[in-house]
Amino acid sequence: MSHDVIVAGLGGMGSAAAYQLAGRGQQVLGLEKFSSAHDKGSSHGRSRIIRQAYFEGAEYVPLLLRAYELWEQLERKTGQELMTLTGGLMIGREDGELVSGSVQSADEHGLPYEMLDAAEIRRRFPAYAPGPETVALYEENAGFVRPEETVKAHLDRAASLGADLRFGEPVLSWEASEERVRVETPRGSYEAERLVMSPGAWAPQLLGDLDLPLEVVRQVMFWYEPTNGLEPFLPERFPIFIWEPDDGNMFYGFPAQDDDRGVKAAFFRAGGVPTSPETIEREVHEEEIGFLRGYLAEHVPELAGRCLHARACMYTNTPDEHFVISVHPEHTRVVIACGFSGHGYKFCSVVGEILADLAIEGSTPHPIDLFSPARLNKADARG
Ligand SMILES: Cc1cc2nc3c(=O)[nH]c(=O)nc-3n(C[C@H](O)[C@H](O)[C@H](O)COP(=O)(O)OP(=O)(O)OC[C@H]3O[C@@H](n4cnc5c(N)ncnc54)[C@H](O)[C@@H]3O)c2cc1C
Repeated sequence: MSHDVIVAGLGGMGSAAAYQLAGRGQQVLGLEKFSSAHDKGSSHGRSRIIRQAYFEGAEYVPLLLRAYELWEQLERKTGQELMTLTGGLMIGREDGELVSGSVQSADEHGLPYEMLDAAEIRRRFPAYAPGPETVALYEENAGFVRPEETVKAHLDRAASLGADLRFGEPVLSWEASEERVRVETPRGSYEAERLVMSPGAWAPQLLGDLDLPLEVVRQVMFWYEPTNGLEPFLPERFPIFIWEPDDGNMFYGFPAQDDDRGVKAAFFRAGGVPTSPETIEREVHEEEIGFLRGYLAEHVPELAGRCLHARACMYTNTPDEHFVISVHPEHTRVVIACGFSGHGYKFCSVVGEILADLAIEGSTPHPIDLFSPARLNKADARG
């Protein structure tokens, strides 16, 4: 059977691309190294923060607004709760990167928010223990998306629209000519009109020809047992949060989810160790558990209990922490998506739409100039 588009890598981004492409009548072949919604890449661990007042850059806001619409559409189509809005607190010093960047994004795009001083944070959300200089931007529209459920939902919808999805079938190599693309796997060789490459932490291997300056980093997610019960951490009383303490080691957390006994927390731009998908240490050590617990003890004291479990995951970072989404610079039939730098999940729904635009039309109406691989030219990046 001939295919219009091959999608290589069916994780967060690839599952959304397969769904969008199949929805536009494309014959899709999806190839995934592991199983559906597996835990060996970057899209596992039950929750991912979603928010709109985006400190990483106001340019992301239009994409976020569309991402929300698409997540809501997917919820309607599946009848499942995939995105849970709990409100969100961006906590830190007023002039810190997190708070000031969030305010700037919100102001630029007219997003609703409230500014809370330390006393107000304590009054409304008693689980947090901010120091006197601490403030927070509170955004009602923040919350979390469920990674395993959304990957499955995108894949199920894609399959029901006719996509041919194959699991346990890794792409070993690929090539593109002016007329076709060809992909080799251990089971055979496939040709199509176009190729979408969304390999997550495997981008250095599968997109090695581009020599992108990507760094794969191990990051751990921890579930701590609150010392005085779950009550203060239920979603009505405990929004998602990101905290930028004075030493800059940002960490974040979620409310208690569903029937969990533990509350999830992790470092954001701290505590990561360079790794690779082949060598990543999956075991989590006491020192790591203790390191984050130290921050919780100071800032969210009742959360500094026993660690019930912990899971390792991978960020694939670019030097400027912006994504790579583009038509391949040398092959117009190939579209690439990688380098999501630890903040990509909330965008999967809209990235799927962008990848489908790029694969079918060669361009997209979405603003993606920021994500061009040209900016990462290695010589320039080294300065
Ligand atoms: C601990 C942690 C916390 C995070 N928290 C947040 C958050 O709160 N909010 C947020 O927005 N983002 C968050 N992120 C980032 C977000 O999860 C990632 O940006 C996103 O999951 C990346 O999706 P992806 O599709 O690029 O990678 P993946 O979902 O890993 O997908 C890549 C897929 O390609 C497959 N693959 C690779 N090579 C091949 C091959 N040769 N052949 C076939 N298949 C192949 C892999 O098996 C995998 O399934 C977090 C990430 C981590 C690790």
